[in-house]
Amino acid sequence: MPSLLPDFPSWLLLNDPVSVLIIAVIVGLCVGSFINVVIHRLPRMLQRSWEQQCVELRDEPPSEEAETPYNLIVPRSTCPTCQHRITALENIPVVSWLFLRGKCSQCGTRISIRYPLVELLGGLLAGLAFWFFGPSWQALTACILLWTLLALTFIDIDTQLLPDDLTLPLLWLGLFVNLFGVFTTLPHAVIGAMVGYLSLWLVYWAFKLLFRKEGMGYGDFKLLAALGAWLGWPVLVPIILLSSLVGALVGGGLILFRGRDHSVPMPFGPFLAIAGVIALFFGSTIVHWLHLPY
Ligand SMILES: [Zn+2]
Repeated sequence: MPSLLPDFPSWLLLNDPVSVLIIAVIVGLCVGSFINVVIHRLPRMLQRSWEQQCVELRDEPPSEEAETPYNLIVPRSTCPTCQHRITALENIPVVSWLFLRGKCSQCGTRISIRYPLVELLGGLLAGLAFWFFGPSWQALTACILLWTLLALTFIDIDTQLLPDDLTLPLLWLGLFVNLFGVFTTLPHAVIGAMVGYLSLWLVYWAFKLLFRKEGMGYGDFKLLAALGAWLGWPVLVPIILLSSLVGALVGGGLILFRGRDHSVPMPFGPFLAIAGVIALFFGSTIVHWLHLPY
């Protein structure tokens, strides 16, 4: 299919593949640092807005806390223990954490290894996209998909939520990029979004009616719809197979070896996200192998 997009501007990225990779990884590390902020603050922002809605419904005056701004930019990041404001030098992805040996420079409180890990993943995923697709619209847009999946994974692990503020824009963006046929044709993308949502919606209701249990949440449907919009409906087959398989293995492993209570629901988003990453890179191969149209 002829692409409706202009050629990828080669001047944007030097034509040397190694420097392209280095730039992608550095940008990815910095975005990873921002993803840490999103993972930490977005659920709290949602919590605040829900509380505010409740207060408004009850016709109460807004609390003082609700008046202070809290979003992805303000207030500046501080140490949760001593309120020491994180300086720019202490905010360099991965490097600062290593240099501070994972401790706050003022009070010595441990800084979770998750922060540099998310930064590292942000960089690695961007590098992987440019290594796999080369300098192209595919690589550039794949980065946005991968970074959003990274944020959603950790938010779901922390809070069992997949916020609409991330899943819905991701869905629309997937349809938009495929308007230009970046990953699949537009009909494949539209059907992918519909089938992605409906398939898990059906599973959810079947589960609820049969076992009176909720196996997953509406966020999962929206995430699979977004993956369908980005990668096309045929790729949903390997995504569902892979996420169920990995989910069953990890879930079974946690119950067996860590004594996890199997009545506690496990977030399904991370498995969808991991399957989505695999499908982004190897979807066409798997689909071909399963004899599905691509
Ligand atoms: Zn501190």
